[in-house]
Amino acid sequence: MLSGAASTIMLTSQKGLEIIMNNDPQADSSSIEPKVEQRQFDVIVIGGNFAGLSAALQIARTRRPVLVIDTGKPRNRFAKASHGFLGHDGRSPTQIAQIGREQLLQYPTAHYVEGKAIRAERHQTDSFSVELESGTTYQSKRIVLAMGVMDHLPDIPGLAERWGKTVNSCPYCHGYELAGGTWGVLYTGEASLHQVKLMLDWSDNVVLLSNGSDQISDGVRADLTSMVESL
Ligand SMILES: Cc1cc2nc3c(=O)[nH]c(=O)nc-3n(C[C@H](O)[C@H](O)[C@H](O)COP(=O)(O)OP(=O)(O)OC[C@H]3O[C@@H](n4cnc5c(N)ncnc54)[C@H](O)[C@@H]3O)c2cc1C
Repeated sequence: MLSGAASTIMLTSQKGLEIIMNNDPQADSSSIEPKVEQRQFDVIVIGGNFAGLSAALQIARTRRPVLVIDTGKPRNRFAKASHGFLGHDGRSPTQIAQIGREQLLQYPTAHYVEGKAIRAERHQTDSFSVELESGTTYQSKRIVLAMGVMDHLPDIPGLAERWGKTVNSCPYCHGYELAGGTWGVLYTGEASLHQVKLMLDWSDNVVLLSNGSDQISDGVRADLTSMVESL
């Protein structure tokens, strides 16, 4: 059975469960040798950014042995600053993670290893193994998957270089800093209309970029017109 919230999923018992990790194909951790000697843990957390470190912290506070495995490629690594995270607003994502790691590793039962998990397998109740790309295998009673999500950017020249700077997915994260300027919303479907509505909180000048699509329906056009008229 899979249960969980946000990007963290706790795996509970299911016969013959086997997960092949392919969430982070860009990560090349083959040259990193794990430095954690201990092999048996209560919980292994795969993914060691905000979600994984938060999960591990609570586990360490129950005095249980916990191992975090991380390839060091968080989704927000393209942004200079992270916003809207209470107590850390404006701090760099790298710095927040570093503080989180340092606080976690003050707990004697907490461990952290750099490496890529390539296979997780359930053998029997309370018995999982996780294999790293380096070949090292760790055992645990539970696994937490906190590997985040990956962005697949559209193939538009210049977009990738601006990702996390002037091209963003979340106005709540970075809209404040870009407020007042002209904003473009890339049309990907009718839900883009919702984005246009949201972004009017930060800019009066929002342009819907059709990206060559001739799929913008008359209904969407009418909604846009009434939105503009109501400004
Ligand atoms: C450009 C950008 C800017 C953002 N800015 C903000 C912001 O300002 N405020 C905000 O609230 N949110 C922001 N976000 C959303 C942001 O991604 C999250 O807040 C945060 O990164 C989520 O943390 P996470 O731990 O869930 O996932 P991630 O940060 O993606 O962390 C997942 C970790 O798992 C590791 N991993 C993946 N696969 C494996 C594997 N097989 N083995 C071992 N490790 C693995 C990765 O290397 C990574 O370190 C932003 C997103 C983007 C794209």
